Amino acid sequence: MFNKFYLLTALLLSLLFSACNKSMQQLQEDRPAKNIILLIGDGMGLAQVSTAYYFGEGTPNFSRFKHIGLHQNEPVGKKITDSASGATAFSTGYKSYNAAIGVDGDTIARETILEWAALNGKSTGVIATSSITHATPASFYAHVQNRNWHEDIAADYAKAPADFAAGGGYKYFSQRRDDQDLLKVLEEKHVLVDTNELGANLEFGQKYAFFLEPDAMPTMKDGRGDFLPNATATALDFLSNDEDGFFLMVEGSQIDWGGHANDGEYVINEVLDFDKVIGLALDFAQKDGNTLVVVTADHETGGLSLSAAKVFGQPEYGAIEPTFSTGGHSASLIPVFAYGPGSEAFLGIYQNNDIYGKMMKAFAEKSAAFSSTSR
Ligand code: MG
Ligand code: ZN
Repeated sequence: MFNKFYLLTALLLSLLFSACNKSMQQLQEDRPAKNIILLIGDGMGLAQVSTAYYFGEGTPNFSRFKHIGLHQNEPVGKKITDSASGATAFSTGYKSYNAAIGVDGDTIARETILEWAALNGKSTGVIATSSITHATPASFYAHVQNRNWHEDIAADYAKAPADFAAGGGYKYFSQRRDDQDLLKVLEEKHVLVDTNELGANLEFGQKYAFFLEPDAMPTMKDGRGDFLPNATATALDFLSNDEDGFFLMVEGSQIDWGGHANDGEYVINEVLDFDKVIGLALDFAQKDGNTLVVVTADHETGGLSLSAAKVFGQPEYGAIEPTFSTGGHSASLIPVFAYGPGSEAFLGIYQNNDIYGKMMKAFAEKSAAFSSTSR
């Protein structure tokens, strides 16, 4: 009799405890995010991610995520997306046609998450290893019908500069058909422009644009070095001064270009560089506690396979040889890795444009609180 009572009490207590525990955990994950770091490895499908496990040193930073999902990335009017509609889906929540930059399927400009963040008192940043006017970064600040209109994209940037930018592409600002010097326009807007080197000890309250090449940044192979990790570390140091938080997008742009070139070594070097950036973002988020980190790609490029090397025409399972099935993009589902407040929402399989809503949901409540108190 006594035994039975004791057992029942213990059971009830343990149930109560686990319920409490669960709600504590739930509370932590439902907590709004003050900052979001979105890391896009352009053209980085699961095979590209896998290269970090076979060709890198130590455990890749991808392994630090617990919340992992997949997105389907079909655009409007086609089966396979390009980087413009892919990034526009992330930045605006709208699926659009290939080549669309920050506009929906009817070419209507849609507010991006970066613009929303700026309007809500947060600091913003864009970093890429391409020109800053290239499709992926452009989709976060520009509204242009065609990704090839780099000069129009640069004009949109000059209209509403981010607080921090780093990448290539100064020629679209300063060597234009309309003879405008948009770098001067940026300077008039109190943006400190540097076309030579990434600055250090940045002053909060100032805006910065580090446009270090006329067009794209060099490849890793051609000596880009630690530009991407350094720019990310500098941006995090700078943007984290904002009490209202920040939105930062960092793109490993050239994983895609390695795929287009069907060049395994190019892909691997770019993925390993991108993995360093993931490490920095996660270190920051772990310390900060209020930062959501999302790592994904717009699409896969090259139809990359980590095939068995061929020895006398036979597959040799002791060695991996990257092989490709296309010079273009492929339609495969793309992994999404999330860490921090709001990260649980990234479990499962969903559409690419759902990523926008999941990020906005992670941001929203806190910002509503901001607008009623500090703004
Ligand atoms: Mg891109
Ligand atoms: Zn591509």
